[in-house]
Amino acid sequence: MKVLVATEKPFAAAAVNGIKAEVEAAGNELVLLEKYTEKAQLLDAVKDADAMIIRSDKVDAEVLDAAKQLKIVVRAGAGYDNIDLAAATAHQVVAENTPGQNSNAVAELVFGMLVMAVRGFYNGKSGSELFGKKLGILAFGNVGRNVARIAKGFGMDVYAYDAFCPAEVIEQAGVHAVANQDALFETCDVVSLHIPATPETKQSINYALVNKLKKGGVLVNTARKEVINEPELLKLMAEREDLKYVTDIMPEADAEFRKFEGRYFSTPKKMGAQTAEANINAGIAAAKQINAFFKDGCTKFQVNK
Ligand code: NAD
Repeated sequence: MKVLVATEKPFAAAAVNGIKAEVEAAGNELVLLEKYTEKAQLLDAVKDADAMIIRSDKVDAEVLDAAKQLKIVVRAGAGYDNIDLAAATAHQVVAENTPGQNSNAVAELVFGMLVMAVRGFYNGKSGSELFGKKLGILAFGNVGRNVARIAKGFGMDVYAYDAFCPAEVIEQAGVHAVANQDALFETCDVVSLHIPATPETKQSINYALVNKLKKGGVLVNTARKEVINEPELLKLMAEREDLKYVTDIMPEADAEFRKFEGRYFSTPKKMGAQTAEANINAGIAAAKQINAFFKDGCTKFQVNK
């Protein structure tokens, strides 16, 4: 089988070597298309590919039309909105992601931004500590669980709410389960967002909810900008001079948020998953998933079921 790695922005060399080793160990052939600049190059490369590993590369109906042999496409990473899932299904192509492979990287960035926030963005003045503070985790998925693990090392008192994960699972991880997101914001000094952007969650982080945070509260966002109601958060930050907002997803209204100097920070571009380790983990996981698909028909991580 021919496994095409098509990456406009290539994997690190160590990831490519790991992918190659996995693919060849299963008796398959690796073909690389890196740093392509024209869609035509991708359309040509997919012609005889049986499987495909991508990063943020767009796989739309035109690509799927050209990929006559393709059986599976794996997005090395968590988000898969760059794959046209309906078109993949119509072409009988299995689409997968590699959930969990970058979760630790994202969770570590939460604490990178959080320490910076409580230390006054390193302004030379006295800040505060995380030890003994209450941390609320909104959504106890792959990233949320890693945040809980690290928070315990800081000696934080950890709370979580997840609409679909049972309270017992949260409690088993040594985390207090709360009944809803209002209770989470009311209880905690810091809330870290780990919800996906869905019709229910979009714009859900609004004035009324964030205003429940205790005095000196910090909101951390490594999820998606769409979950924030930006005009309402701006209004609240103008009214409450104690609130801080740190985010890995630059808001549309970044320029307006920047007015809250010393209380707001955004990474210049999404950096949560940008570590060598996450890059390698996701690439190798994609190769292993393709091997399992060809060997046993395994579709555990299929997202277009
Ligand atoms: P995940 O799928 O493992 O977990 C998501 C959790 O959200 C699940 O437990 C689910 O039950 C819960 N959930 C869904 N809808 C909910 C709702 N309405 N209320 C409460 N909980 C709800 O995802 P993950 O890997 O933990 O990623 C979480 C978020 O982080 C995603 O939005 C993802 O896009 C984002 N992310 C960002 C980066 C980055 O670079 N900053 C990297 C990876 C993931």
